[in-house]
Amino acid sequence: MNTSLEDNYRHKGLRKQLVEQLRTKGITDDAVLSAINEVPRHVFLDSSFVELAYQDQAFPIGSGQTISQPHTVAFQTQLLQIEKGMKVLEIGTGSGYQACVLAAMGAKVFSIERQRNLYFKTKEILEQLPFRVKTFLGDGYEGLTTYQPFDRIIITAGAPSIPDMLVQQMKPGGIMVIPMDNTEGDGQTMLRVTKMEDGSLKKEEFGDFKFVPMLKEIGND
Ligand code: SAH
Repeated sequence: MNTSLEDNYRHKGLRKQLVEQLRTKGITDDAVLSAINEVPRHVFLDSSFVELAYQDQAFPIGSGQTISQPHTVAFQTQLLQIEKGMKVLEIGTGSGYQACVLAAMGAKVFSIERQRNLYFKTKEILEQLPFRVKTFLGDGYEGLTTYQPFDRIIITAGAPSIPDMLVQQMKPGGIMVIPMDNTEGDGQTMLRVTKMEDGSLKKEEFGDFKFVPMLKEIGND
């Protein structure tokens, strides 16, 4: 684990370059870019990867899981249309990076992780950072009944379908961003699902991505 939380000029400079790269790749929301500029991504990676933390790439974070590519984090965050004070549920805490980007935008973030080791490892890192994220060990398919309803839900693992229980935990007018398994079985299509006032769902598609699978139940695998 990377125990150094130092954020030096070099890190800050690399982060500025990453933000410019994301801008050229089509991320236009300044609030999203400013959150990416604020969150030190290198503290979420194992120390052997620190040098690479500000490249636009996904990386292993242990327990067979990955920290999403910055472009993917920015893309999903942009689709969410976050406003300050919103309650946001994340499925798949992983490294905690995406959760911190949402918190840096002023969201109240609730994040669920099913992988026991990762949950504890990330909780420890998050406790040392100034971002407001509540983490939970649990099965994301079930959401968080105690804290619902949510303004926004973001799923950061490849889902076979839109989980019913999560739709129930969305406010009317709420938005869910979910990478849904495609029919070819080789990745996911990014979906933005808006829950209309009458309870019906409006679905929009935003291109192809690759995520680790959304699995059921808490585990150590
Ligand atoms: N948001 C993360 C990316 C994590 S990768 C980041 O910023 O680093 C996806 C994560 O989803 C993995 O950690 C995986 O263990 C977790 N996951 C998979 N199925 C899940 C489920 N049903 N509930 C909660 N977490 C789940």
